[in-house]
Order: sequence, then structure tokens, then C-alpha cells
Amino acid sequence: MTVSDATRARVRAASAERCGYCRVPARYIYAQMQIDHILPQAKGGSDDESNLWLSCPRCNGFKRDQTHGIDPITTRRIRLFNPRRQQWERHFRMESDGVITGRTTCGRATIEALHLNYPPSVTLRRYLLRAGWRPIP
Ligand SMILES: [Zn+2]
Repeated sequence: MTVSDATRARVRAASAERCGYCRVPARYIYAQMQIDHILPQAKGGSDDESNLWLSCPRCNGFKRDQTHGIDPITTRRIRLFNPRRQQWERHFRMESDGVITGRTTCGRATIEALHLNYPPSVTLRRYLLRAGWRPIP
């Protein structure tokens, strides 16, 4: 199956042109944003709009067909953050230096699984924050 252009446009608009995981705005990355299957197609996820969200290539590349990650504090296997159904600010906090910290087991497991604090990504977010960008519109 493929995702229609109309569906892609609606997903882009619903996500406010930001990655659902690291929150980077599409206009500040040197690559095309991707349509993420929240439940991966390899795990039976559909092309239905309710299963789609915008992701930067780095987050989507690390996510691959994962549905769960390990919370580094409890070492429990936790379902990854769902950017369509869950509120980012409930599970994550953007520190002033660009590092994303987890507020919940889900947030921490997602940070680890998707490598949200990859150093070049942290540096980009630090510069964006200094320029006035905020992860929550
Ligand atoms: Zn991202």
C-alpha cells in the first residue's frame, strides 16, 4: 500500500511540520521529513491516517520496526511514544541545552530507542532554542 498525497498533506498539517519525536521543524533539517507508521507496517500497521505522523529521517531511521524500548531506569520494556495519541510535553522535557529528558517510562524508553540525544541533534536544538524556537507551538 502507499500513502496518498492528500493523506500525506493532512499528516504534515496535523503534525505542524515537526518531527513527532524530537520536534525538529521540517524547515531546519537538510533532508525530507518522512511519514512514520506509528505501528510499523512490519508489525501489521496500516496506511490509515490514524497510524501516520511526521518524523525526521534520523528518528524514523532509528525507530525502524520497533514498537517498544527499554526504560533505562526501571529496565522495563515500554511501548514507544505515540505522537498522534500522546502529548509530547507529558512524556518529555526540552532542556535549555537541547537535551531531551524523559518524564515517564515511555519518554525515557523512546529517547533511548530513537537516540533522541544524538549529539549533532542536540547541538541543532540548542541553536534553535537560542534563536527562540520552542518544541511546543
Ligand atoms: Zn526527529
